[in-house]
Amino acid sequence: MANASTTEPASTPHRARLMDGATLARRISERTAETAATITAETGAAPCLATVLVGEDPASVTYVRMKQNRCAKAGITSRHVELPASTTTQELVAAISKLSDDPQVHGILLQHPVPAHIDERAAFEAIAPAKDVDGVTMHSFAAMGFEEPGFVSCTPGGIMRLLDAYGVDLTGKRAVVVGRSAILGKPAGMLLLARDATVTYCHSKTVDLPAIVREADVLVAAVGRPEFIRGEDIKPGAVVLDAGYNEGNVGDVDFAGACERASLITPVPGGVGPMTIAVLLEQTVQAAARQQGLTLA
Ligand code: NAP
Repeated sequence: MANASTTEPASTPHRARLMDGATLARRISERTAETAATITAETGAAPCLATVLVGEDPASVTYVRMKQNRCAKAGITSRHVELPASTTTQELVAAISKLSDDPQVHGILLQHPVPAHIDERAAFEAIAPAKDVDGVTMHSFAAMGFEEPGFVSCTPGGIMRLLDAYGVDLTGKRAVVVGRSAILGKPAGMLLLARDATVTYCHSKTVDLPAIVREADVLVAAVGRPEFIRGEDIKPGAVVLDAGYNEGNVGDVDFAGACERASLITPVPGGVGPMTIAVLLEQTVQAAARQQGLTLA
């Protein structure tokens, strides 16, 4: 990807090049499928991802179905656990603990958000660290913080894969992450820091957020507000990763405006989104290999 050529006219030096997450995700998933086939041949059983869905939120139902379809394409078996919206924390923890103890299950994904009455953290923590392929447990978060081996949260992991695929050198760069959720903004900043970027987080209490955005060589938008980042605030030549996914296929960045100034930008859809599932599948296959003592090439 880093070597893909562009044919931009000289008159628009900052007309952004797209970071094609859909194509990169497909390549990663092809390699994942090859590894899954090797594991299946060597052990007699395919890697298995268990998905847990509580309630019937339509978006969550769609996400889970998408993940199952992608698993099937990659030769990963999926086990699906559906629980009613009335499920208690204790019942959910019990269901997840059962999957954690099941040697035939290699990865566990709890689709979130869960209904408000459930203690989501308690549910996440019932996932055995070795099976935390979505990178949501405190164990995985700490491993990332200490730069020890472990599973990363999938969307930040996907963002880093995109940066690497497009040859973005992060050393000494000013990286700004807008959003600080435990599954997205916060880990994205930690991963950028681990690669020697100088990281600033912005959030709902940040004063003069646009001024900070204007300093960003690398900008990660993870806010959940359509076109929250204005194109005019993008630093010329910046690399823009838009993790936002809002109604109407709109990201958190004013895409058209940002394209006039950024050097690289992820489209919405087709940028960060597909990478999330690709990383999930890749980590599932890695988990299956580790649990069965296989060393992958
Ligand atoms: P979240 O938990 O709601 O967090 C949003 C963050 O944005 C919070 O840190 C919040 O600040 C900050 N924020 C909200 N309003 C703000 C404002 N007016 N000014 C500055 N900061 C503001 O959301 P999330 O789960 O991280 O998701 C963020 C976006 O990414 C959403 O669009 C979501 O759909 C998308 N997403 C995409 C994928 C994918 O696969 N591509 C995966 C996950 C999420 P405070 O902390 O101060 O409240």
